[in-house]
Amino acid sequence: MDWTTCNFRDEKTKSSQRIGEILKGDTFKCSLCSGRGILPRTKITECPVCKGIGTVSLSGPVVVCAYCSGRGAYPARTNLSCTVCNGKGLVRVEKPIEICSHCRGNGKEPGNKLPCLKCKGKGIVKKKQKEEV
Ligand SMILES: [Zn+2]
Ligand SMILES: [Zn+2]
Ligand SMILES: [Zn+2]
Repeated sequence: MDWTTCNFRDEKTKSSQRIGEILKGDTFKCSLCSGRGILPRTKITECPVCKGIGTVSLSGPVVVCAYCSGRGAYPARTNLSCTVCNGKGLVRVEKPIEICSHCRGNGKEPGNKLPCLKCKGKGIVKKKQKEEV
């Protein structure tokens, strides 16, 4: 008997980027238009975020925008670009990072839907160095 059958599935769930995960690279697919360069639900409107290119560039450590969950649009299913990431779906952060304890990483101010005041909607704050007492 030769068990060569590989049974495990390699399922790649879309937009499974975790909050607080630093993404590598400096060019990313534009979130607002999903890389098409034109706005969803339109045929010719050029995406204002990537200017029709379909990609955006960000330098430095970037994480998925917590406020819009990386969609680039906020509210969801609109063509309004997220005010936190300007529609890119990604935000620049300063290392070292930690999950914002105020909004628990979801980027929204508890009690309302405005961007969290502490992390400005990123869901991530710069980690404080341990203070020595
Ligand atoms: Zn775009
Ligand atoms: Zn956003
Ligand atoms: Zn926060």
